[in-house]
Amino acid sequence: MQFQVRYPTLNPKLYYHQQPVPLHGAKAGHFNAALAEQLNWSAQDKNDWVTICSGQKTFSEFEPLAMVYAGHQFGQWAGQLGDGRGLLIAQIIDRYGKTIDLHLKGAGLTPYSRMGDGRAVLRSTIREYLAGHALNALGIAASNAVGFTSSDQGVQREKLERGAMLLRTSDCHIRLGHFEWINQYQPELLREFTQKCIEWHYPECLNEAKPILAFAKAVIERTALMISGWQLVGFAHGVMNTDNLNITGSTLDFGPYGFMERFRPNWINNHSDHHGRYTYQNQPSMGHWNLWTWLNNLVPLCPHDYDKEQWKNDLAACLEQFEPCFLAHYKTGLCEKMGLPIFHKDSFDCAMAFLRILQSEQLDYTQSFVRLQNQDYTALIDDCLDRRQFESFLSHYQQIREHQNTEALDQRMREVNPQYILRNHMAQKAIEMAEGNDFSEVERLFNLLSTPFSKQPELERPEDLAPLSSDVPEVMVSCSS
Ligand code: AMP
Ligand code: MG
Repeated sequence: MQFQVRYPTLNPKLYYHQQPVPLHGAKAGHFNAALAEQLNWSAQDKNDWVTICSGQKTFSEFEPLAMVYAGHQFGQWAGQLGDGRGLLIAQIIDRYGKTIDLHLKGAGLTPYSRMGDGRAVLRSTIREYLAGHALNALGIAASNAVGFTSSDQGVQREKLERGAMLLRTSDCHIRLGHFEWINQYQPELLREFTQKCIEWHYPECLNEAKPILAFAKAVIERTALMISGWQLVGFAHGVMNTDNLNITGSTLDFGPYGFMERFRPNWINNHSDHHGRYTYQNQPSMGHWNLWTWLNNLVPLCPHDYDKEQWKNDLAACLEQFEPCFLAHYKTGLCEKMGLPIFHKDSFDCAMAFLRILQSEQLDYTQSFVRLQNQDYTALIDDCLDRRQFESFLSHYQQIREHQNTEALDQRMREVNPQYILRNHMAQKAIEMAEGNDFSEVERLFNLLSTPFSKQPELERPEDLAPLSSDVPEVMVSCSS
């Protein structure tokens, strides 16, 4: 590994050096060999992956640390938070010259553990591992993981579960909440910290007349892009707090997330979110809310020779770009999923009519697009109670496509419509087997979700392709992890 020691060069008030505390009886869970390759892991490190992913081996080149940050959780100021159970154990340069953080989650207590035990359970570790992998394979910015380990150590949640550790990778672990902590508790560090964020993550902004405004604009655009990606594949993050979104327009901490099955815009997977703050359809506005909260922390950075009111207006103007940016990506992406030309004035309305059918007929989001792509209209109509509604959609749809280059549109449909998403019951089965020390289902899902746009008949199972029937109880997913 080629180390790049960045974060420890910041003011020590921003972190605490801490070694991982391994769990008893650590053992292999799953290893993402392709990612290790991309991260330029040596043959020795690959060989040692279990000891690295269980906190038994650390690196002399990088002293592990827990970061401090703050955040708004479910819309409320939560005060100081921080890595309560995770440690940054390395920053390394990957094959493409990009700096990547290695963060070991479940590594023991830190000064920021609050009431927690510093641990993560196997169940949530597998969910985070598969979610990061699935999103990356779908081309959506997200953390990923090189591997995870299980253990024989019990960790108490609602019931006693197996402890585990995840070696997470991300281009950044600086959360929107980092700015909130600094502004609240150490405001004198704000200017230098922001400067480092720009140098490390948005160097192109340094050439702009006002680098901080360019930085704000770029963070907003990248976040809008990520959320449009979620909406298009039907991903609901579940805990879009400001401490779970980072400044590179990526996200962390996949807990009670879900990939939507039957199309329900007000769907929420997190049974702890009683008010429905983070439903699927609320995600764009919650992203906007988080960015607005974050931007307030840039107000003190007004240049000395610049009008303060004007500076606030400039920051607000950056945020005004969020909605058009989100809509542009979403509309383009939706038209591509539909096989409709983006420039046609009726394409978006036609796509909306399709979504309304999915909603009223409670059809599976992912498979309905696959059927549309396969021109399997009979299968779609057979699942509709209101056949006339579908027929009227279909005639409009075919009319728009009539004089278009359908070959190119169909090709794009195949590139953007996943054949597979991670359904809750798929993850649940892998978890139950892993809890009995059988990781073969994790392996199967890992492989299936590696190339989600390709049909893989030899690997797929019927339950990968549809929601469970409505008489089977849903998998309950909460914040407990
Ligand atoms: P998360 O749900 O992983 O986004 O965590 C939210 C916050 O609670 C973060 O600051 C975590 O570090 C902290 N946290 C969650 N679970 C634990 C735990 N078991 N022990 C210590 N801190 C935790
Ligand atoms: Mg978090």
